[in-house]
Amino acid sequence: MIIVMKSGTPDQEIQGLEQQMREWGLIPEKIVGQSQVVIGLVGETASLDPEHIKDLSPWIEKAVRVSKPYKRVSREFRHGELSRVAVSTPQGTVYFGEQDPVVLVAGPCSVENEDMIVETAGRVKAAGAAFLRGGAYKPRTSPYAFQGHGESALDLLAAAREATGLGIITEVMDTADLEKVAAIADVVQIGARNMQNFPLLKAVGGQEKPVLLKRGLSATIEEWLMAAEYLLAAGNANVILCERGIRSFDRQFLRNTLDLAAVPVLRSLTHLPIMVDPSHGTGVAAFVPVMAKAAIAVGTDALMIEVHPNPAQALSDGPQSLTPDQFATLTQELAVIGQAVGRWPEPIAAVV
Ligand code: PEP
Ligand code: MN
Repeated sequence: MIIVMKSGTPDQEIQGLEQQMREWGLIPEKIVGQSQVVIGLVGETASLDPEHIKDLSPWIEKAVRVSKPYKRVSREFRHGELSRVAVSTPQGTVYFGEQDPVVLVAGPCSVENEDMIVETAGRVKAAGAAFLRGGAYKPRTSPYAFQGHGESALDLLAAAREATGLGIITEVMDTADLEKVAAIADVVQIGARNMQNFPLLKAVGGQEKPVLLKRGLSATIEEWLMAAEYLLAAGNANVILCERGIRSFDRQFLRNTLDLAAVPVLRSLTHLPIMVDPSHGTGVAAFVPVMAKAAIAVGTDALMIEVHPNPAQALSDGPQSLTPDQFATLTQELAVIGQAVGRWPEPIAAVV
């Protein structure tokens, strides 16, 4: 349930209500909107009557039940106010949100060695990326496939950040590695295969770095939002959702089916920012640019693109990786779409 306060409600009144809710065994969460304060209530609210709640204070505009099973992540919980996830990077704060320019995240699937990660970081930064992605711990289908260099790769990511000022996004697969990963990452990624790893969700939700939650291979949107609810319930509200393709019946031409309709659906259901990953979403480098453009057109707040200096030699996901040159060309094209939807940082230089 949420309690919507009238605009101009004195702080004391809100504190009194929060106190009352705590005495009833509920957890109140104050959400300060542009003109109004909303108190979100988590807990056993089934027996509460919204009309009865209204009698508690003349400053209450209305009390409304949140009908969805996911509470904190629902749009209703914040009374329509969208969240904006702020991430500190050496170059300054980058914002993920519907009112902000599209954020570009790029880099190799795996961190392979220092030269390749530092070189790739420099190239993607020059093309407009704000974040470097790269896996230190890799979830591989085969136990015999390259598993990532682990802790030493985290140091290489730190070196790439040092060299470029880019923010770092990297995946944690195991709660045992969380401290190490969170010490280096500016955003901690939970991969598709771990979307419903509940102990991991609880642990990542209990630390402070913003979180990127990828959609599970066969997860419904509701299951995905319930997974995000774990993160918020554990205390971390800085969550970005990443659509990365789902398993469908046809794998002949595409690795996954990129569900771009998930973007407007999520926008209608949740206040959390949205990212799209057309690299894992298609599995084919040739299809990445067009799907990246489409993702901006449907309203994504960010893109994650795999870029490798030599895709043919990549230790993982070479077939879906762009070269740095291809990425630079793509960002020029993305700028056109980004401008058209009012989501690009710089105006395009006039052609003379
Ligand atoms: C990744 O981003 O490196 C990755 C493994 O992606 P996903 O979890 O979406 O498969
Ligand atoms: Mn990959």
